[in-house]
Amino acid sequence: MIAGTRNINYLRISVTDRCNFRCRYCVPASPFKVIEHERIARYEEILKIVRIGCDMGITKVRITGGEPFVRKGIFSFLHRLCRIPQLKDISITTNGSRLSRGKIKELMDMGIQRLNFSLDTLVPEKFAKITQRDRFQRVWDNIMAAHDLGIAPIKINTVALNGFNDDGIQAIAGLTREYPFHVRFIEYMPMGNTDVGADAQILTQDIKNLITEAHGPLTVVPKEINDGPAKLYKLAGASGILGFITPVSSHFCCECNRLRLTSRGTLRPCLLSNKETDILTPLRNGADDGSLKQLMVSALKDKPSHHNLEKRTARDLPLNHMTSIGG
Ligand code: SAM
Ligand code: SF4
Repeated sequence: MIAGTRNINYLRISVTDRCNFRCRYCVPASPFKVIEHERIARYEEILKIVRIGCDMGITKVRITGGEPFVRKGIFSFLHRLCRIPQLKDISITTNGSRLSRGKIKELMDMGIQRLNFSLDTLVPEKFAKITQRDRFQRVWDNIMAAHDLGIAPIKINTVALNGFNDDGIQAIAGLTREYPFHVRFIEYMPMGNTDVGADAQILTQDIKNLITEAHGPLTVVPKEINDGPAKLYKLAGASGILGFITPVSSHFCCECNRLRLTSRGTLRPCLLSNKETDILTPLRNGADDGSLKQLMVSALKDKPSHHNLEKRTARDLPLNHMTSIGG
């Protein structure tokens, strides 16, 4: 636990703002600039920040992006990360398109047992419409390869959107009947100038209604420590679990135990607040470990207890889109 703060043991690290997909709800609609290479935290720098975080109680990291597997050298970085003894849990959120059976095996061999795949639809044409890339089959084959190889749990993240995938929500939920997957429906957070309007948002209660219409009642699954913000349920006879992440309809800020490190080397205590603490510049300027620890503590003091996303206007929304913060 980091002194003087709530029990923060989880660091989410965005290793890149680059992505090979262009999901309509995630990237800006108009041309946007990627972050210059020299402003992106180098692997060595990320590892140093993680080691300092571990001295302060971080035991769990999730690697995200942009798309983590588009960054050169990611596998040797992950090997080094897995050798940090205090880290008990390392997982990755990916669009799944750059993986292969061999690469998934390599991840498992280094100790990574948990993968989150983003998959918003099971219909290839809709997949291409949402991601602007025709890669459904590749992603699905990689999910199946991960399942065959024994990655567990496999989590599937689905952002539910009217007019994009609302007619496929029941089919995605049905995956939990066939496979032991954790399918998590995430409420769409309007993050900036994407071409998906707030009217596309489907709130959790409506998603649940669609699911129960097709599959019958949902039974509550008790949460375990470290289960994260999803509220968990099961369909009758299912081996998998359904989760609902409700940043809009029911915020979970007071339970949030995570700190984010953006690809620009800033600490971001909350996804939905633009407050960030630059840790990379002091690190590059030779700050000692004690000063860097102090920066982490002060970043955490900025962790809000509430976000009010449901009441915000476009002007109040985060200025950075998800690929640059790390979702
Ligand atoms: N590229 C990887 C992927 O897609 O899994 C990792 C980064 S992505 C930003 C992480 C997660 O954020 C994905 O599951 C994605 O669906 C989710 N996401 C992106 N934009 C979002 C938004 N506006 N609202 C809710 N979730 C969003
Ligand atoms: Fe890329 Fe993930 Fe954003 Fe889609 S959700 S554009 S895959 S970063």
